[in-house]
Amino acid sequence: MTADTSRTSLLRSLPSVDGVLGNPDVRSDSVQLDRDVLTQLVRQRIDGVRRRILHGEPIEHVEDAVVRDVIASIAQLNRPRLIEVINATGVIVHTNLGRAPVSEEAAEAMARVASRYSPLELEIETGKRGGRMSEISQMLRLLTGADASLVVNNNAAAVMLALSALCAGNEVILSRSQAVEIGGGFRIPDVLAQSGARLVEVGTTNRTYVRDYEAAITDQTGALLTVHWSNFRIVGFTKQPLHSELAELARSRSLPLIEDLGSGSLLETTPWGLSHEPTVTESIKSGVDVVCFSGDKLLGGPQAGIISGRKDLIEQISAHPLARAVRADKTALAGIAETLRHYIRGDALERVPVWRMISADGEFLRLRCEEWRSQIYPNDDVRVVETRAAIGGGSLPGETLPSWGLSIATANPDRLARTLRTGVPAIMPHIEDDRLILDARTVLPGQETGLIAGVNAALQ
Ligand SMILES: *Cc1c(COP(=O)(O)O)cnc(C)c1O
Repeated sequence: MTADTSRTSLLRSLPSVDGVLGNPDVRSDSVQLDRDVLTQLVRQRIDGVRRRILHGEPIEHVEDAVVRDVIASIAQLNRPRLIEVINATGVIVHTNLGRAPVSEEAAEAMARVASRYSPLELEIETGKRGGRMSEISQMLRLLTGADASLVVNNNAAAVMLALSALCAGNEVILSRSQAVEIGGGFRIPDVLAQSGARLVEVGTTNRTYVRDYEAAITDQTGALLTVHWSNFRIVGFTKQPLHSELAELARSRSLPLIEDLGSGSLLETTPWGLSHEPTVTESIKSGVDVVCFSGDKLLGGPQAGIISGRKDLIEQISAHPLARAVRADKTALAGIAETLRHYIRGDALERVPVWRMISADGEFLRLRCEEWRSQIYPNDDVRVVETRAAIGGGSLPGETLPSWGLSIATANPDRLARTLRTGVPAIMPHIEDDRLILDARTVLPGQETGLIAGVNAALQ
């Protein structure tokens, strides 16, 4: 038989849609599927096998192959892709794992507004329209001193919106060292261009002075912009003006000073042996007029971008058409509000997971690892070791926190990592020098049982 005739005979043995739908295994697996969806799926899988035959793939039992594919696809449809993951990487704000897990209280508040009605745009007292931002604005005023705040989809949207609303058609002055790429294609010069503002770079890569900004101000200038170096550092012979100096210059020329702060911490990072990450409060205090920051990096809430600052400017930003396009939904607003309430009550270190992880005591982590170790089947390859955890999320690059973890010696760490990753629950380890490490700092309370069971199953 030539290749062509065997291909033809394979194509001829492709089953009909009804044939596959009548298969007993397909029928028993698909009882919960909509009929039309199932028919569509079967057509897709028959087409898939047809393409494989046309590509010359030798398929032994064509009908069985289609049925197998259909059953695998049904299983996939029934299993959410966003399953629970145990983060044992030691990276706290892990971009690939969804950045910050929110507190129990924030998760409850988000679930509550998602499944019920809420007075999202209604003042309960008066029965009149309004209120979307009032609670969050008030809490941020108390926490940071900012007159007003607006919550949008994420910080990228916050920066884009602030520049569009305040600077479109005008020049924006930025230090050459801050014309940066944040990641995921977010480049400050491109964002500026997209907002309709024109970038005027001043200074040099390593040194920029207040007089550089001053010399660049013209009647075309719309704002001074400063961008936090989230994911890199410039060290050595460097100079950047203080925010207060820039603020003074901006004020004297009646220009707004806008800051893209990135993480936007509300708490000080230095007590935990990390270097200083600028806080929102500091920016406002030093005279920044509009500060943009993320809700799901060091704030520890759901994905959001927050714009805080002078009331008249926040009102101008809120009134821009893009504000409606990028506004935060009710679940994000509920989650941010509940996250801020932790800072208001002063229990963020205990309740906000990102901060509980940052502030976790070394001895507590070591004991936690010893406890895990005692529940793993006797195995000389598993040891409790000192590790290094990191903040992640583009914050405090290169800095680590001393931590503790389980180290598993294995001939093939990649294979063991894959076994852990594809288990239920999925466990994400960290591989270092051919050792597989499970860092205790980023494992959430309540995930221990799953972690131990997963490791025991993987080591069997
Ligand atoms: C992370 C970051 C952004 C983007 O924020 P998202 O919340 O991811 O949209 C923008 N600017 C800086 C300086 C950042 O660190």
